[in-house]
Formats: sequence, C-alpha cells, structure tokens
Amino acid sequence: MSAVLLDDIFEARRTLQGKVLRTPLVPSPTLSAQCGQPVYLKLESQQLTGSFKLRGATNAIAQLSAADKTRGVVAASTGNHGRALAYAASAVGVRAVICMSELVPANKVEAIRALGAEIRIVGRSQDDAQLEAERLVREDGLAMVPPFDYGPVIAGQGTIALEILEDLPEVDTVLVPLSGGGLFSGIARAIKSASPAIAMIGVTMERGCAMHASLAAGRPVQVEELPTLADSLGGGIGLDNQYTFAMTRELADDTVLVAEDDIACAIGHAYWQEGQVVEGAAAVGIAALLTGRVRPRGPAVVVVSGRNIDMAAHHRIVGDARPQ
Ligand SMILES: *Cc1c(COP(=O)(O)O)cnc(C)c1O
Repeated sequence: MSAVLLDDIFEARRTLQGKVLRTPLVPSPTLSAQCGQPVYLKLESQQLTGSFKLRGATNAIAQLSAADKTRGVVAASTGNHGRALAYAASAVGVRAVICMSELVPANKVEAIRALGAEIRIVGRSQDDAQLEAERLVREDGLAMVPPFDYGPVIAGQGTIALEILEDLPEVDTVLVPLSGGGLFSGIARAIKSASPAIAMIGVTMERGCAMHASLAAGRPVQVEELPTLADSLGGGIGLDNQYTFAMTRELADDTVLVAEDDIACAIGHAYWQEGQVVEGAAAVGIAALLTGRVRPRGPAVVVVSGRNIDMAAHHRIVGDARPQ
C-alpha cells in the first residue's frame, strides 16, 4: 500500500484540467455575520453530474491501463459515485457497468443509464449488487472503481483543496462532509501540506456515521445504517479499509456531528439565504456553523459537496424552513 501524497493531487489536477469544472468559491454574508469571520462556500454542488465525485472517478479512469480501458469499469452505486463513473467513462469512450438491486427506484436507474452506463439489476440489496460487481471483475475482467478507499479517487477529490488555496490563501478552517473519507482525506492531505496550522474539520450526521464510530474505536467498525437526510453520507468505511481511516485519523483536527433538524435548516439556509439547491450531505458544514458546533477563528471554507436531492423532498424541506 502506498499513501496518497501531494504530488498525486497535483498530477490529478493536470489530468482533470478541462474535464471537470473549476467550481466557484463564494462569500456567504449571512454565515460571515453569524460567525464573526469571513465564511465562503466551495460550490461542488455546481460540479458536472451534481457532485465532487466526478473528480475522483475521472482521475481513476485516466489512470487505468490500456487493457483495463478496453474491458471497462464497474461499480455498485446508485448514488453520486455511480453517476460520476457513468459520466467519466462515457466521456472517454470506456464501458461502465453499474450494478444495483431491484429495490432502486426507476428514476435513479434511468438517471445513471442516461449518463451512458450499462445497468445490471441483481438481487434485493446493495450487498447483492456489490457481489455482482465483484463477479464481473473476476469473470469479465472489468476494473472496479471504489467510491472512496482508492488512491486515484482520493487524489482526485484533493484537487478541490488546490482551488481553495489559490482562491483564499488566508484560509484558516476548512469544513468537509465526512462519510467514507475520500473527500476529507484528499482535501486534508493538500491543505495540511500547505500549512499544518489550517484546521481540518470533518462534519457528519448523528445518525449512523461509520467513520466517526471507527475513529472513536481506534479501528474500522460497522454501524447500523439509519435513514437520514444526508443519504450520500450513509454506508460503512470497509473493515479492511486501506487509506481513508488512517488518513482521516492523522489529518483531522476534529470531527463533529449534526442532527437531522439541523441538516434540514441548513438545506433551507442554502436555499433562502444563498440561492443554492443542495442535498443533505452537502449541508452538514453549514449546519455545523449555524448551530455553533464549529466556531472558526479565522476565514473559513465550507465544502458544499452536491446537489442531487429529490426535488419534491427539497420543496417540502425549504417550505418548512421558510424565513418568517
Ligand atoms: C460521497 C459524498 C460525500 C462523502 O464523501 P466520502 O468520500 O465518502 O467521505 C459527501 N457529500 C456528497 C454529496 C457525496 O456524494
């Protein structure tokens, strides 16, 4: 196993040039007033495919051998990783197979098919879909692209930090949504290489965060998965985790948890105050500032990670959070 280094992130940046968007870093006047420090939002919600996952997926495909590119890639993901891999593969003419269970709603299936992937529907759980993906690796020689615990993916996500450092060299605190830890590890590697004094804060939901529980236990552990508004933060970190557990443990100054109500308020805040549609997972950093769980001592950046939320659900949430 080799670690993910700053050089890997610079190389990813060259690879991603022209293939993914350089997303805006925008000031938030209301969060700045509330925190008494300048607060900026890094809008990966405006990334192509609706989340930062396109960075890691694009970098992973670029690093495949010519033989792997000929055979194609596979993943078991109904969410942002599946969308990103479908898009990144079809952009360079590589076959992508995305495995999902029969329980995945038709609109999600069609969204990923429309991005150019082949869909394989098997079994009645995410575990069944994962087993099918592993079978395609064994029997058809497809290359698995994991969603977070994979060097090229971590390096791709880390390119977000290079953009933050260019746009706001005086940054003091960075808040990052935390699930499997690919996003956090990549960003933290680049930020801490620039300056170990910049605070790296992982933010996640109270309901079912495997990385938080694993850090507390000192080793990767499983937690019960619970329904949450931050659905893109669900799932385990893998009991045989190779990279992201160690990197998060090494590089995080703190990890904080936010409640479901606070995530809903933060989705509402993003909409009414910032004019942004964001999904629950992307709103946790805003929630951490609004609730005072994180109090920045200097200029702060909140990574807003995606916008893929059911729009009818979004409509209800922002209706309930409407300012008086
Ligand atoms: C995947 C995802 C995350 C978490 O990323 P990890 O690398 O698993 O920690 C956060 N927000 C959104 C929108 C995502 O899709």
